[in-house]
Amino acid sequence: MHWADAFVKDLTEKQTVSTGISPSGHIHVGNMREILTGYFFHRALKDRGVESRFIYLCDDIDPLRKVYPFLKKEEYEQHVGKPLSSIPAPEGEGTYSEYFLRPFLETLGTIEVKVEVIRSTDLYRDGVFAKATDIVMNNVPRIREILETVSGRKLEPNWAPYNPICSSCGRINSTSVTGYTFPYVDYTCKCGHSGKSDIRKNEGKLPWRLEWPAKWFALGVTIEPFGKDHGAAGGSYDTGKAIAEEIFGIKAPLPLTYERILLKGKGVMHSSTGNVIPASEMVQYAPPEILRFLIARTHPSRHIDFDPGLGLLNLVDEYERYRNVFYGLEEAAGEDDARTYELSRLVEEKPDTFVSFRHLITLVQIYTTDEQLLGAMKRSGYGESKLSPYMKNQVKVAKAWLEKYAPDQVKFSLLPQDTKVSLSEQDVALARSFQEKIGEIEWTPEAIHNAVHGFIKEQNLEPKAGFATFYKILIGKERGPRLGYFLSNLDRVNVQRRLEIVLSGN
Ligand SMILES: [Zn+2]
Repeated sequence: MHWADAFVKDLTEKQTVSTGISPSGHIHVGNMREILTGYFFHRALKDRGVESRFIYLCDDIDPLRKVYPFLKKEEYEQHVGKPLSSIPAPEGEGTYSEYFLRPFLETLGTIEVKVEVIRSTDLYRDGVFAKATDIVMNNVPRIREILETVSGRKLEPNWAPYNPICSSCGRINSTSVTGYTFPYVDYTCKCGHSGKSDIRKNEGKLPWRLEWPAKWFALGVTIEPFGKDHGAAGGSYDTGKAIAEEIFGIKAPLPLTYERILLKGKGVMHSSTGNVIPASEMVQYAPPEILRFLIARTHPSRHIDFDPGLGLLNLVDEYERYRNVFYGLEEAAGEDDARTYELSRLVEEKPDTFVSFRHLITLVQIYTTDEQLLGAMKRSGYGESKLSPYMKNQVKVAKAWLEKYAPDQVKFSLLPQDTKVSLSEQDVALARSFQEKIGEIEWTPEAIHNAVHGFIKEQNLEPKAGFATFYKILIGKERGPRLGYFLSNLDRVNVQRRLEIVLSGN
């Protein structure tokens, strides 16, 4: 059973699945594990006929913690400690939080993940956290005891479970609470100002370890996936659970701790360091369903090593194998293959409505116009009369990937017909024997491969050196796509002409 189905299999009552990501920087491929793990639970519930609500809480009232490497120091130093929703965007109009939120929401649209987006600033502004905040402010000694016991960490003597936003300097990290009478929290600020925050408005926030259980309480959250730093012993899930049960009198949501996504060769993706691939970028360089597949295929307890280069191509191959399994064209290798595919795909992909991505990578390097490309696709079994919107996007993505992430071994461009190439005697002999028989060879990948292989054997050549002859002539490199397959995608007459031209100059 797929991990998402297994997680929800005993649930029958209505569920609220919640996720949360801070828009403190680029929302990246690593963050997608949060939202997609939640999404797959939501999907699995709905597929079982269980009612489900799916939420993404954008932590936009969180303060800017420091000037991150991708920010201008002279501009952002003054904003450290202020809510992300009240400081300016790194470029253009609008707020910092919306600047990073917007491309993420667009990406969710691209990968067809429908989620109720809730901004934490709005929750405070609309008073949704007022009741939870009042409970918290009336239970400070007990909460302090719980936090200190469960986390094993001592809190400052003046610690309070609420951080007022200073109405004078706008900071949330420089105020100290001095008193509470509903609905006002009194504070003093390091800037010299003292004032009152109304807990029914966005004039302050709960610290993370209280805000999380307060969210469960205020929104009725029953399922929540989170990263392993929150799941550690004594971490924020443990303290949140104790506070949920003892202070709010509710059950903590069913937890699911997921492992991290690493960027191959570069380690953990983290928005604060800038070592990330923004999710909005990945869907430009990879078929969008692959972002879903990346998360769906791996159990949350295992980390993912993401490689946007050759690894991505292998990942798409795997996705296409799962697709074949789903359509009964290939034997399943694992019991969840078909279900994993079903959770990942965006459109119904009948077998003659696509060509494989790897194949497309070769075709877009040979054919420059859509018309030629469509012709080549049709010869490979594509059954539509024109490029579907889905295939149009695949073509765009294939070209973008070649430009940005493809390793050299995958890239090539055909030499213009009249380009001269100097060949060894051995190259000439091989090319000539092939050219003499070219009209008799059946123009299919296998027949071409066998024919070339036969000539190589006849002339006692190393296979690698033999194949290199053709790559030198056609693309000016020693290596290229599998030769039989490659030639079969070229027009036979053009290959013949190209051989003649090169041979006549040698
Ligand atoms: Zn202040």
